Amino acid sequence: MDTEQLIRDVVKSVLERLQKEGMFALPAGSTAGQGANSVQQSRNKSARADKKIVCGISVRHIHLCREHLEILFGKGYELSILRDLYNPGFASKETLTVVGPKLNAIQNVRVLGPLRSSTQVELAKTDCIILGVDAPVRPSGETGGSSSCVLVGPKGAVYLQEGVIRANRHLHMSSEDANYFQIKDNQVVDIRVPGPKGLTFNNVQVRVAPDFKTEFHVDTDDGNAADIVNGSIVEIVDASCISPIASQMADTDKIPPSIPDGSFVGEVTDPNILKNICSIATGRPCTNEQIKDAIEAVKVSGKEALSGQLTKKVLVTVADLDKYAGTGITVTKDVIVSPLAKDEANARGIKIIYS
Ligand SMILES: [Zn+2]
Repeated sequence: MDTEQLIRDVVKSVLERLQKEGMFALPAGSTAGQGANSVQQSRNKSARADKKIVCGISVRHIHLCREHLEILFGKGYELSILRDLYNPGFASKETLTVVGPKLNAIQNVRVLGPLRSSTQVELAKTDCIILGVDAPVRPSGETGGSSSCVLVGPKGAVYLQEGVIRANRHLHMSSEDANYFQIKDNQVVDIRVPGPKGLTFNNVQVRVAPDFKTEFHVDTDDGNAADIVNGSIVEIVDASCISPIASQMADTDKIPPSIPDGSFVGEVTDPNILKNICSIATGRPCTNEQIKDAIEAVKVSGKEALSGQLTKKVLVTVADLDKYAGTGITVTKDVIVSPLAKDEANARGIKIIYS
């Protein structure tokens, strides 16, 4: 049988290689959850204070079905609990070696229990690169058509046709907290991480269940990018509201920048900025149609401004500052001072007078 032969070949060459080379060793991603004990305290606080959420970093791990468990560890085998996870489930003492098509292997990949109806391997992108698999980003459990690998255990090996995924960013939430936050199961939210490597994670799927504890789950690549660890505190935000550039440009009288700096003309494509421009203009959250309109408006006003066909509004840039050296700049609602010009004016001691 093809599959069986394939497993045999792969396992044979991998085992030979591992023996010969003294194993390909990564820092043991040995637990799905780094240093969990030290952070338990901060997690026990209510998630609801200040809309703050705790993080859990998911190190690469494996969920097994009964059939595969018995192939890998032997007939009638049962997982033994290493420790309970913060959310339902446990890290088992058992680990496996994952082998990819490049015949690279990652050892000591933790098995999480309890058993599931089908086997699922959850990796970070970096793991995928090492193994040579192109695993899709999926919600846990949606493994149809996902990537394959070989799992090697103490008693046997399994060729996993599909089941290798990169888990999507998700937020476990207790029903109680979901009710408090007014967030529904499956809703997609943005999560903001503070700090020097702070960033906003988009496309975070919320999963609500009565027995969940509220916890933001990301893989090690996402976690490392934002410098977060288990127990780090993050918050739910609406990313369409945070756009420092747009709000900076619009800081006089909340007027959207109808005459952008030349560098912005026709180049504003960031949907968050556009959403923000649009919602400042309308005072309401905007629809996709309105966002499209906003894009057009920015393009048009940019072009007109360049060809001098518009407009009553005056834009003061750094190049104009000499004109204002004696008088200072009087800002009315028809005068916009670019952020750079504002800084430069302050540096040169040119007064900016808001009327
Ligand atoms: Zn999770």
